[in-house]
Amino acid sequence: MSIQNVAIIGLGLLGGSIGLAVREHAPDVTTCGFDRDAGVRAAARDRGLVGTVCDNAADAVRDADLIILCVPVGAMEQAASDLSQHIRPNAIVSDVGSSKQSVAEALSRALPDHTIIPAHPVAGTEQSGPDAGFSSLFSNRWCILTPADGAEKGAVQSLSDFWTKLGANVELMDAAHHDLVLAVTSHIPHLIAFTIVGTASDLEEVTRSEVIKYSAGGFRDFTRIAASDPVMWRDVFLNNKGAVLEMLGRFSEDLTALQRAIRSGDGETLHDLFSRTRAIRRQVIEQGQDDERPDFGREDHT
Ligand code: NAP
Repeated sequence: MSIQNVAIIGLGLLGGSIGLAVREHAPDVTTCGFDRDAGVRAAARDRGLVGTVCDNAADAVRDADLIILCVPVGAMEQAASDLSQHIRPNAIVSDVGSSKQSVAEALSRALPDHTIIPAHPVAGTEQSGPDAGFSSLFSNRWCILTPADGAEKGAVQSLSDFWTKLGANVELMDAAHHDLVLAVTSHIPHLIAFTIVGTASDLEEVTRSEVIKYSAGGFRDFTRIAASDPVMWRDVFLNNKGAVLEMLGRFSEDLTALQRAIRSGDGETLHDLFSRTRAIRRQVIEQGQDDERPDFGREDHT
């Protein structure tokens, strides 16, 4: 089935970017959107994030053959239940949530009789809201689909084709595996950034103004990540608890080993690790997932 009408629920960074990307890459597809915040709906109209901004969710989804929930992970179940009486029987319901197992369960509880194909575009910035979206957010980024066993193959293919049109590379993955992979590549790095920025701001011996003044020494890059949306990240940690705690256990062990190496003057261990991590950075750049310029090439969007 080729997707012709898309409804986007939640018109912040992700919802807005999908709307703009559809307009640019699939102009024949119509888009309707809804956000519970009237101010966001007004901003979405001003920016033309979707073809039609509706004042209620029912109107947005009524004609849709694909509905994408772009709300925080903890709001998915409520947002989906609000739609249950208004969705066409053969419509595909998807989402962009950063954790997948708990979202899949929430969507199945809310919409037991519908076709649900969860997804996670691994693309974002620390900005949120309707002014933050841009049409190239998904270009050359991965979008991971986590269909349940036995999900309708045609629906998976249609959703995959949709994301490919928006410029993403699509991968299918088991939801539990997705949650472990993203715990280590996204959720723990954010947790570390939140921690280090919090620790620095609580210090008594070094003043906060000194921390900010000398931030170019590495701290500044953590502050970018630590500026991410508090609601979104609260929900990610509450909803990917198991995988995050498992990976955090590994991380704590490695941190303790480094602490021991520093205390005992074991320069070889430090040098070996830092050489391995430098090589990983090179691979990230070689695979087109980042830019080697000193500003990470993000000057337009961050
Ligand atoms: P965002 O910019 O804060 O936008 C979310 C919007 O959804 C807000 O305007 C919010 O309104 C609205 N909303 C909340 N509950 C709603 C409901 N029941 N019905 C309608 N609208 C509702 O957030 P985002 O960054 O786009 O993130 C959206 C989703 O994408 C999250 O699940 C997140 O995990 C995932 N994601 C984010 C990134 C990233 O880098 N940001 C990357 C990949 C995936 P209120 O402000 O009134 O709550």
